[in-house]
Amino acid sequence: MAHVVQLTNTRLVDGDQLIAQSLWFDSIKGIFVSHPQHAPASTVDCQNRIVAPGFLDLQINGAYGFDFSEDVARLSEADHDWHDELLADNDQPAAREVPSGMQAMPISFAMNREKEESKAVAGSDYSPQNLPYLGPSRSRRPSEGTESLGAHCEGPFFAHNRMGVHLPAAIHASGSTSEPDRVFQTYGSSNLVDAESKERDAGSIPSHVRMITLAPERPGALDTIRQLSDEGIVMSIGHMAADYQQARAGVDAGATMVTHLYNQMNSHHHREPGPLGVLTDTDAGPEMRILGQGTEDGGVKRRPYFGIIADGSHVHPASLRLAYQAHPDGLVLVTDALLPLGGEDGTVDWGSRQLTKQGVSVKLEGTDTIAGSCVTLLECVNNFRRWTGASIPTAMRAVTSTPAAVLGLEHVKGTFQAGADADFVVLSEEAVPGLSSSELVVDQVWKFGVKVYDRCDV
Ligand SMILES: [Zn+2]
Repeated sequence: MAHVVQLTNTRLVDGDQLIAQSLWFDSIKGIFVSHPQHAPASTVDCQNRIVAPGFLDLQINGAYGFDFSEDVARLSEADHDWHDELLADNDQPAAREVPSGMQAMPISFAMNREKEESKAVAGSDYSPQNLPYLGPSRSRRPSEGTESLGAHCEGPFFAHNRMGVHLPAAIHASGSTSEPDRVFQTYGSSNLVDAESKERDAGSIPSHVRMITLAPERPGALDTIRQLSDEGIVMSIGHMAADYQQARAGVDAGATMVTHLYNQMNSHHHREPGPLGVLTDTDAGPEMRILGQGTEDGGVKRRPYFGIIADGSHVHPASLRLAYQAHPDGLVLVTDALLPLGGEDGTVDWGSRQLTKQGVSVKLEGTDTIAGSCVTLLECVNNFRRWTGASIPTAMRAVTSTPAAVLGLEHVKGTFQAGADADFVVLSEEAVPGLSSSELVVDQVWKFGVKVYDRCDV
């Protein structure tokens, strides 16, 4: 029996517009439905506020004192199920991310903790035990808060001079090649592909790993990109020493994303544009042939999506504008958040190292090395609007429909279309003293058709 709820008096994000239109969802099934023939069971007056699909973050490493790469291993050793133990607890990050509007995420998993390091040094079995605990939530219980859409594995197949704060031992132990066999062995085949679906002839279905970031210039990387993207895993190039041609080759092989554009990759130079140049590719036109870089068939060059950390310290606003203007439909706002997100400023333990949080900035203690951020996705949206002048619905695309498309979930997440998950956010605009533009604030968050956060109740 359907229980249809109608949202009225909304300003609905619809493409690049805000439109005054009702929205309907089935609160039992937790999905949006089209205009019903019968009167809805109930209505919710949105008081002319903005309604956007739930936000998605393609890159988050932890929050609220919790590190997905380390603490999940601790839970797994105790034979606890992360989704039951962690998500059900309102003090834990997944539930607490809800007030910022973030409702789904592939959880970033970095093979950079001591446990992985000691294995790497020993050169023994490298398969991470905690990946199964980071796999898709597959639960539709709204009370669990933010939903995992699978693991985003960052590393260890990086350029050795672009490893950022990832522990060197893990990167070095991966050697200098990225042959498919080696990559499958490292992550564990069962973490990459659901073998049962293959046996049932249901085609390849990604298992616990949804996304992998690797450097395309390493030997064997292009074969790996081809093979894993065929298996349905989103391949992203990053932490790389690739020049323009090597980045282009990675995208031609099947990579559809660039991980945190600008950070841990070659800079743009007018004679060697680096990975940024790939965002400008459209086709192998005459000017490309002059440079000897065109293809004979003149085929369209696919441009990748790109993540960008709009926290004000990872990337200058002008650099964000440059990338956005080069490829507006490809921009995805990500946080790259770490465990101090949501905590007080100061120093916290991070494995064998310490992190110092100051505002949204997180650095390795005593250094100027940026380790990640403490920004929320909503703050990224507000920064993006301020820096580019983008409209509200345009900015919303960078945290809703575009990241959903990266994951191939454009009909399930980040959309109001009938049949999609009824995840949405009700937002207000608030004036900011000293600024001409308004800021968005999250008033309500609804997950699978159930209200899970209301600013008025806090
Ligand atoms: Zn990174």
